Amino acid sequence: MDGFLHLIVTSPSGAGKTTMVRALLEAFPQLVQSVSNTTRAPRPGEVDGRDYHFVEHARFDEMVAEGDLCEWAEVHGHRYGTSMSRVRLARETHRGVVFVIDVQGARQVKAAIPDAVAVFVLPPSWEVLEQRLRGRGTEREEVIQRRLKNARDEVAMYGLFDYLIINDDLATAIEELKGVARATVAQRARRAQRAEALLRSG
Ligand code: ADP
Ligand code: 5GP
Repeated sequence: MDGFLHLIVTSPSGAGKTTMVRALLEAFPQLVQSVSNTTRAPRPGEVDGRDYHFVEHARFDEMVAEGDLCEWAEVHGHRYGTSMSRVRLARETHRGVVFVIDVQGARQVKAAIPDAVAVFVLPPSWEVLEQRLRGRGTEREEVIQRRLKNARDEVAMYGLFDYLIINDDLATAIEELKGVARATVAQRARRAQRAEALLRSG
């Protein structure tokens, strides 16, 4: 286990993971988010290269064929994937990378990087999840219905995750996410070299 933090954050659509990760990154500038590639169209306000790399299907096929994606999945009818090359760059420039990905992607990253820490964000209830998805106002009705339908299957996979955070009160949920990041970097295996260096130093 090296000192570099791989933090996976997953939730059903609308539970609040994007909002929580934004706050985490503001508090910890040494962490960077992995900007995913997606074939879905940008929402109003989303910026290419910041929120996602928005790519055509043919380009996504190419990335899969070239082996540039360390994980990818079809989610709610679109494809999403993480570029290996960008994760490598993150390792050179930051102390940790945050993957905001779905359950299938979380499983793949956990398999490839066993010391990755996975957090699942739960909504307090199905009613609140629906209110948040609608309140965000970014999706058409059929898209909302599809995402709500998929939410049950996603929550059923909670057993893959190391931590469950219930996003009821946002400030509390953000504090818990920060707490997970802080506790993870202090794990013995990540700090053992420091202890050994201290012992050797006199
Ligand atoms: P996700 O990334 O999981 O799809 P978002 O972060 O986009 O979800 O959040 C969905 C909507 O819910 C947004 O409008 C966001 O402002 C709102 N939201 C997130 N967390 C809370 C919370 N704890 N209380 C109330 N509204 C929230
Ligand atoms: P949205 O369309 O709401 O931005 O994202 C839909 C779902 O796709 C969310 O669960 C989000 O976490 C997931 N997702 C975003 N990027 C990736 C990625 O690179 N890989 C995988 N597997 N899922 C992703």
